Amino acid sequence: MKCWAAAAGQCSSEQSGEHLLTKSLFTDHIVIKGLAWCMNGKQIGINSAVSNILCRSHNNYLSTADNAAVSLKNFSEGAYLRKKRYQKPKSKKDLTGPAFRSEINGHSLELWAFKTMMNLTKCGSYSLSGNLPENIDQYVQKTFNGKGFDAPTGLFLCADINEMVTSGTPYETSLLYTESEKVISGLKFRFQGFRFLFSYNKNPALAMLTGKQQNGIYRPKQIRLNSDGIGSKLLARLILNWEK
Ligand SMILES: [Zn+2]
Repeated sequence: MKCWAAAAGQCSSEQSGEHLLTKSLFTDHIVIKGLAWCMNGKQIGINSAVSNILCRSHNNYLSTADNAAVSLKNFSEGAYLRKKRYQKPKSKKDLTGPAFRSEINGHSLELWAFKTMMNLTKCGSYSLSGNLPENIDQYVQKTFNGKGFDAPTGLFLCADINEMVTSGTPYETSLLYTESEKVISGLKFRFQGFRFLFSYNKNPALAMLTGKQQNGIYRPKQIRLNSDGIGSKLLARLILNWEK
C-alpha cells in the first residue's frame, strides 16, 4: 500500500485511486506537458490521470480541499460571466445588477494546493524528477492535523496592479521548481484570470516565475473584480475565510 501521507499516521489498509487533479474541475480531459513523454503537451482523459498514491482514509480527508477548489472554479466562472455581461449588456440588470459573491475557507484551498503539489510529485510515470525537501513530512503532518500551515507557508494571490482578468485556458496548474536547489518549492495555479501561488517553505519572491515581475499577497482576505474605466463597479467579490 502506498500513501504519500503516511507520515501523518493512521493510514487505512485500503488503497484508493487518487485523481492527480481534482476530477470535478474538468469535464473530460486534461493536457499535460513538460515531462519527457509529453514535452509539448499531450491530451489525456481525466479518468486516466489516476494513481495509487493515497490510502482511502487520507484520500477521504482531502475531500474538503477538493470542495474548496470546486468553489473557486465556480467563483471564477461566475465572475468571468458577470464581467462579460457587464461589457456586453443585454438588459439594464447586466449593468446595474449585484456583484457575484462567494466565500471559501482559505485553509481548505491551501490544503488543495499542497495535495495537488504532492500528487503531481508522487505520481510515478507522470512525475517530475525534482525532489521534495527532507522536512516535507512536517508539512504532511500539518496538512492532516487540522491546524493548517504556519506562516510564511501558504497561499499567495499573484496579480499585477490593474491587471485585466481574461479567460483563455480556464484552469492551469504547474509545479514550482527551484533550479538552484533542485527542489519542488510549491505550486502555481490559475482559475480563469485569478492566479495563485502556494509556497510551503520559501518566500515566493525566490520562487518567482520567469516573465513578468509579480507581487504576491499572502493569504488575501478578499478578491474584488471591478469593471474597467472611470466609475468602476464591483462585479464580483470572493471572501477568503481564514478562521480555523
Ligand atoms: Zn494514508
